[in-house]
Amino acid sequence: MEISKEQIEKIHKVLNRVSPVDYDCGKLCGEICCLYDDEDYSNDDLLIYLLPGEELLYENSESFELKHFSIKEIDYPYSWKDGVYTVKCLNPPNCQREIRPIQCRTFPLIPHIDTDNHFYLIFDDSEYPYECPLIKDNIPLNEEFINQTYKVWRFLLKNKLIYDLVDMDSRKRENKKIKYKKIK
Ligand code: SF4
Ligand code: SF4
Repeated sequence: MEISKEQIEKIHKVLNRVSPVDYDCGKLCGEICCLYDDEDYSNDDLLIYLLPGEELLYENSESFELKHFSIKEIDYPYSWKDGVYTVKCLNPPNCQREIRPIQCRTFPLIPHIDTDNHFYLIFDDSEYPYECPLIKDNIPLNEEFINQTYKVWRFLLKNKLIYDLVDMDSRKRENKKIKYKKIK
């Protein structure tokens, strides 16, 4: 299933109505997920990987720089033979929030597919160079945020490229025996 620009805009609308907690969690950490910067991991190099079709929203944006990588340059499933688009935030933590990527909207939850092909939303803090207080302190997330994020990812997984990517990341997680916390 291809994902159209209209479907991405519909997902944005759904996710605009929810947020991980009922307050600005950026105040807990100084918006570290937008601003993290150290000697090994420069914020200038921070790229957000887009899902297929998302790139159509950034062609004329002044907040994001769109970049394309070929499959030879990245460790992605073979089905992504046309490569992957990324965006760089030009003025973090300020961005054009109405078009921020789906990955930012559903953070700190990420999708996981287990060996029985069951889909879950999980916390996996091994993925990031910084600590998100919501994960570290196990802060309960807003229930509507969890439910809508679950529905969005379940829909996105109907796209073969997205399924292959989530499956690849999930297999890596399980092969490396990385501990994760199942949220839904
Ligand atoms: S999601 Fe986590 S890391 Fe990002 S602003 Fe909220 S608390 Fe901070
Ligand atoms: S797109 Fe916006 S929310 Fe996402 S990392 Fe960039 S500045 Fe932060």
